[in-house]
Amino acid sequence: MKSFLFLLALGVALPAGAADVKPIKALFITGGCCHDYTGQKKILPEGISARANVEWTIVQDPNNTTKSRISVYEKENWAEGYDVVVHNECYADEKDPAWLERIVKPHREGTPGLVIHCAMHCYRAPTNEWFKFCGVRSHGHGGHFAYAMTNLQPQHPIMKGFPTIWQTPKEELYNISEVYSTATPLASGFGIEKKKDEVNAWINQYGQGRIFGTTVGHYNQTMQDPVYLDYVTRGLLWACSKLGEDGKPLPGYEPQPGGAAKAASAGFTPAPPSK
Ligand SMILES: [Zn+2]
Repeated sequence: MKSFLFLLALGVALPAGAADVKPIKALFITGGCCHDYTGQKKILPEGISARANVEWTIVQDPNNTTKSRISVYEKENWAEGYDVVVHNECYADEKDPAWLERIVKPHREGTPGLVIHCAMHCYRAPTNEWFKFCGVRSHGHGGHFAYAMTNLQPQHPIMKGFPTIWQTPKEELYNISEVYSTATPLASGFGIEKKKDEVNAWINQYGQGRIFGTTVGHYNQTMQDPVYLDYVTRGLLWACSKLGEDGKPLPGYEPQPGGAAKAASAGFTPAPPSK
């Protein structure tokens, strides 16, 4: 102990141990049309905390139509205090550019983000700013079918451990009309209708913010699959710069005992209905 204090007094940097590391503070925002967001707000946080050192605040907007202003965005600097924000919302008809700007600003200034499935169909303001934030543009999807998802970047840490080809158990494939130059595709899904591959997992640089996106996630059954939870967890760690080159969490960011149980009972804040 004496030598430890001596080193501290000298200002010598000691290697960070798990005890020195704080959990990643994540904000999970969900709600909207067409999906079981009540089920998904449990599946994703619990599954991710079983795989990495992440603590959650969960906000679910009760409006299940295609238009709502989620109350959490009403506050200026709404993302302050969080290390990452997971967007799993679905509001295609919320199109006000000023509201959209409020949502994307913290990400452009550096807050890491995840965009899941119907997030890609949100906030269709004419500025396209939401799509620039996501990294891809999509306005529609094909039928509901299980499809083959191909690993395009097996050397990328997010895709280490992902099969060469994964057969999704049950899904809905989004059509991608544009991949922005700031984005790097990581995986694609094969659409049996158009006989065409669609990018369905990627990373994006939005201003100062690192963004991971995947259009997979319509069905809870797919979200519960360990292959899904594994790559989405790696995506979250990557966005937070806490993923090792080997695809494992950096020291201290491994899952913690009781982490998943804590996520299951994470603070759930029901947002008031939009005005
Ligand atoms: Zn869907």
